[in-house]
Amino acid sequence: MLDRLMLKTEKEINEYLEKQIAERTKELNLVNQNLEEISNRDVLTGLYNRRYLIHHLENLVSANGVENFALLYIDANRFKPINDSYGHSIGDKVLAALGNRFSEFCSPKCTPFRIGGDEFAVIIENYVDKFEISDIADKIFEKLQLPISVSPYTFTLTASIGITLYPEDALDKDVLIRYADIAMYEVKSSHHKNNYLFFDKNFIEKINKKHEIEFLLQNADYNKEFMLFYQPQYNIENQRLVGMEALIRWQHPEKGFISPSEFIPIAEETGMIIHIGEWVAENAFSQIKKWNESYSMNLKMSINISPIQIKNIGFIEWLQEKMQAENIHAEWIDLEITESVAMISTSSIEKIFDFLNEMGISISIDDFGTGYSSLSYIRKYNIDRLKIAKELIDTIAYDENALLIVQAIIMMASGLNLKTISEGVEETEQLAILKKLGCNEVQGYIFGKPVPSDEFEKLHLIK
Ligand code: C2E
Ligand code: CA
Repeated sequence: MLDRLMLKTEKEINEYLEKQIAERTKELNLVNQNLEEISNRDVLTGLYNRRYLIHHLENLVSANGVENFALLYIDANRFKPINDSYGHSIGDKVLAALGNRFSEFCSPKCTPFRIGGDEFAVIIENYVDKFEISDIADKIFEKLQLPISVSPYTFTLTASIGITLYPEDALDKDVLIRYADIAMYEVKSSHHKNNYLFFDKNFIEKINKKHEIEFLLQNADYNKEFMLFYQPQYNIENQRLVGMEALIRWQHPEKGFISPSEFIPIAEETGMIIHIGEWVAENAFSQIKKWNESYSMNLKMSINISPIQIKNIGFIEWLQEKMQAENIHAEWIDLEITESVAMISTSSIEKIFDFLNEMGISISIDDFGTGYSSLSYIRKYNIDRLKIAKELIDTIAYDENALLIVQAIIMMASGLNLKTISEGVEETEQLAILKKLGCNEVQGYIFGKPVPSDEFEKLHLIK
């Protein structure tokens, strides 16, 4: 009896223990699951993170994955200035609010991710056609553009989106990620940053070309390969030469002529523009000194300055030292700066403009009337001249709107005591209109194309 009783108790204990173990295992599994879930989530937004994106993509492209899907790479434009100016805690709140907006896209078909600082991704599974994806991209823009309030501030963001399709573009997850990134980069480097683009094989060719130019620039022998051309600037009223613009030309020993429109943006992106800009300024300085001294004139040399250069205080110091050392009169020099400088923090650009103005160097705003055109900064900054964009001059003779804009620019400039120069003037009709509107100066093929110094001398200086 005792034996049987013991056996029964042992069995009961065993059963109890087994039950306990089963329960503990279940709990452990749950904890593990939670842990897995947490490691797949981004802490700030609660969205899935990059780690999970990779894992998810692996599943989707596997043998029993889906038929098709689209990967959208999304980068918030101009988020960095928010972090820089308002601090990281405000920046984090903006990102959390953005994350909330993305979570509204969560559905069995659509999965949003936060994959880095201000980078997000969305995967759309089993889409019907490209229109469906475009629709979703449009909705993302709509949602993102709504103002974000982080008391006491309100921010409005835009985004650049690159899209790649599986299996159309690629079968491999890493290649798909790279393609989506390339398409996004293409949007970022275009005029319309608040846009989306589907990946295109041509983008790769463009990137390869860019890398090639970057490499060639790094190895360029400036004095052998670069040259300055000069294009005259004339006073409209008395048709006298007032100055010239220095335009860089690059003749590569093997690749031939490479246009500044092609290599200057790359030089800007890589920072090489600082070095190139110094070469340009040095050569333009000695040229204008030579001309003004040998012809007893007071012509102005316009030099293009990239926003990256003007932001660099070292460049301004270099400019001042160089001019003093070479005995270059400040009134001989004009710096052409594009409207995009208005995007640089106002107080620092104000100081730089004031400093240049005190030195006696004049400042022209290049390509005026396109792009940013925030009229407020013209009043705020020490500016001498507005250079009306070729784009407007091109259509001035037949487009009423262009004519009205140019008229408004000239009136406003004269009210503010600024000079105006029109760029890209090719025809007598355009010249007549500009003269009537009261534009002060012109530059364009009508008076002369950019040419090497010896030719410039023959055409415009030796009378
Ligand atoms: P930009 O400063 O707007 O220069 C004007 C461009 O328009 C020049 O092209 C010039 O050759 C062209 N142009 C002038 N008049 C006419 C015209 O009547 N008709 C036509 N069809 N074109 C005209 P380019 O020399 O190819 O320069 C392109 C851009 O490259 C410049 O645009 C400027 O942004 C940049 N660039 C050129 N040289 C330098 C430089 O030394 N430094 C920097 N940072 N940028 C430069
Ligand atoms: Ca220019």
